[in-house]
Amino acid sequence: MLLFFLGGEVLKTVSLGKTGLNVSKMCFGTLTVGPLQANLPIPEGGAVIASAIRQGICFFDTAELYQTYPYLLEGMKQSGKQDIVISSKTYAYTRELAEKAVEEARQALDRDYIDIFMLHEQESIFTLKGHMEALSYLYDCKAKGIIKAVGASMHHIAAVYGAAELGLDVIHPMLNLTGLGIVDGSRTEMETAIQKAHENGIGVFSMKALGGGNLLQKAKDCLDYITALPYIDSVALGCKNTEEVTANVKYFETGEMLKIKLTDKKLHIEDYCDGCGQCVKRCGQHALELKNGQAHCDSDRCVLCGYCSGVCHLFAIKVV
Ligand code: SF4
Ligand code: SF4
Repeated sequence: MLLFFLGGEVLKTVSLGKTGLNVSKMCFGTLTVGPLQANLPIPEGGAVIASAIRQGICFFDTAELYQTYPYLLEGMKQSGKQDIVISSKTYAYTRELAEKAVEEARQALDRDYIDIFMLHEQESIFTLKGHMEALSYLYDCKAKGIIKAVGASMHHIAAVYGAAELGLDVIHPMLNLTGLGIVDGSRTEMETAIQKAHENGIGVFSMKALGGGNLLQKAKDCLDYITALPYIDSVALGCKNTEEVTANVKYFETGEMLKIKLTDKKLHIEDYCDGCGQCVKRCGQHALELKNGQAHCDSDRCVLCGYCSGVCHLFAIKVV
């Protein structure tokens, strides 16, 4: 598929809510280069990140789950630039697990502090409260300067309201042109929730602007939509090669037209799937079900996050 990037403005750094952090309007989502997706060798994935840094991207999203800290470390080494803003996330619900997550990130990234640490895939005020011990640890880290901002990522509108109620610093919500992947309501309802959170000073960087790759056919419309929303401070986009980095940066930065070849992505389930059902339980989008003793994916629901592949004991699921 050929993708034309037209329009856009000079790439800006923007304030991320009231966190005091300045971030690039485009955030590089590292999930794409890591083991859950392209599984690039570390030097190669690091080179993609180094290219992004050289081209002006200073904001990077990662997670304990993604296993992409070594790529970020390599990218910083190759680019010779350390002063980037890194956001990570954890499923920890206890103090001990949160401490383990933060310390692992600090060691793997070879830095004293992590700019943003978030609770991963929150669903509502109730799941947030269920993670209160971990949240309280993250705030203790913030008080010590080990973390600069605390937040949550979510595919649920209810979690945006929950994060606002608890006064978190940052949210990382699912939002795209078609509303793909929003679990508990419409695009308009998600927009309203995010707008209110942003008005309360919460920093917002959106996820899945291109539906994890499902919306590539409408990529220009998707980017025009998400970048026009005044309450989205930064937009996370995954890139798996330098060509995609350059094209996306051009969209955000200069508005010059670039034409690149993008390959559609899809979820592939190998025929040796034994029907254990672990992936079905893991998928927050309810995109997987068991049929005739094997997992099957509903592509209208799947956002190609690759999270299901991490729980498959047979390594039978891949985003290809
Ligand atoms: S099926 Fe897998 S890749 Fe698709 S949304 Fe569910 S967890 Fe993500
Ligand atoms: S986790 Fe793997 S083996 Fe189990 S049902 Fe899913 S794809 Fe099949």
